[in-house]
Amino acid sequence: MFNVERIREDFPILSREVNKRQLAYLDNGATTQKPRAVLDSVNQMSTLWNANIHRGVHYLSQQSTEMYEGARETVRSFLNAASTREIVFTAGATASINAVAYSFGERYISAGDEVLITEMEHHANIVPWQLMCQRKGAILKYIPFDDNGELRLDLLDSLITERTKIVSVVQVSNSLGTINPVKEIVAKVHAKGIPVLVDGSQAVPHMPVDVQDIGCDFYVFSGHKLYAPTGIGILYGKETLLEELPPYQGGGDMIAHVRLDGTTTWAELPLKFEAGTTNYIGAVGLGAAIRYMEEIGLNSIQAYEQELLAYANQRFATISSLNIYGKAPHKAAIISFLLGGIHQLDTGMVLDKLGIAVRTGTHCTEPVMTHFGIEGTVRASFAMYNTKEEVDRLYEAILVVQQMFGGAY
Ligand code: PMP
Repeated sequence: MFNVERIREDFPILSREVNKRQLAYLDNGATTQKPRAVLDSVNQMSTLWNANIHRGVHYLSQQSTEMYEGARETVRSFLNAASTREIVFTAGATASINAVAYSFGERYISAGDEVLITEMEHHANIVPWQLMCQRKGAILKYIPFDDNGELRLDLLDSLITERTKIVSVVQVSNSLGTINPVKEIVAKVHAKGIPVLVDGSQAVPHMPVDVQDIGCDFYVFSGHKLYAPTGIGILYGKETLLEELPPYQGGGDMIAHVRLDGTTTWAELPLKFEAGTTNYIGAVGLGAAIRYMEEIGLNSIQAYEQELLAYANQRFATISSLNIYGKAPHKAAIISFLLGGIHQLDTGMVLDKLGIAVRTGTHCTEPVMTHFGIEGTVRASFAMYNTKEEVDRLYEAILVVQQMFGGAY
């Protein structure tokens, strides 16, 4: 049985006060809090097992290497990837997308080629492609979305041409909450022989993910959004593709042999893409976070968060001046909103005074804000440890904001 009070006890930060109120942490889309299992694992790794990986014959180095590679296997199984050769540790989703945009661009993109992404991408899945397209003289195209926040997939066929070389799409929008039908998108794009990258940053904390079922060629996410430490993330890539791509960065661990005449050779996958000393402590923390989530069960987490979303929607529906941006029928527990003409920063600041942490601004999705002709929104993004009582507190706090600012606009 899913027991939210039990789960909350695992997260020390949730019992602290902010502005003399009990913290209600509703900024999980930006980063999640860490359970004791993760904090302990990182602490133990630093105090008992610290030694650089893949380098030493000595005991500690071998142990830390084993723990690092064990975490890789945990991630492989979490994503149901076919092999650990397909799981690359990176610094996060941004680093993963930059790696693919750079390497794929070097190998496959020429002047006049096209890359197709969507208008609801996080900046991390726009700008790396813009940089690569500028470098290569390629063209970046966008799948638009409608006012509900659903992708205009009816336009997919017409947006793909014989010059399209790769499609990159977010699985769950961090500002709209929309869950995109990535399996269906991959099938349609694959039918034209084009590979697909899926940005799963906001999906993995909320639902089970199976990369073989989705069928995508690349899948990326950041650890810190799924209860793991910052500075660690994942690039999943199909082995055949990763084999063909050139390395992104050079340095230790990604080489087989260095020759001064330039005939340097690369390490086997996945190390070819892990230059330098990686964040092996973070990787072990990521493994602990995944095990923690799996013990609770991804299906249970998803069902509970959907219940929370339905409850919040039901409560917010009674506030007539509250406009929600992102009304797709398939949504993760992310609610972006504005209260009449009240500025998002005013709302965010009052909520903060009441101990409620939400995000304000563009959420690194400026084109989404442009679509709606707004500067930004207030975003409440829920995690498995949030409660209906916290939704009630948000509701009450919104009424306070309205009373304070309602007349002024
Ligand atoms: N993609 C999405 C959908 C995101 O929500 C985020 C983080 N907000 C990122 C990519 C980038 O993640 P990071 O900053 O951890 O690299």
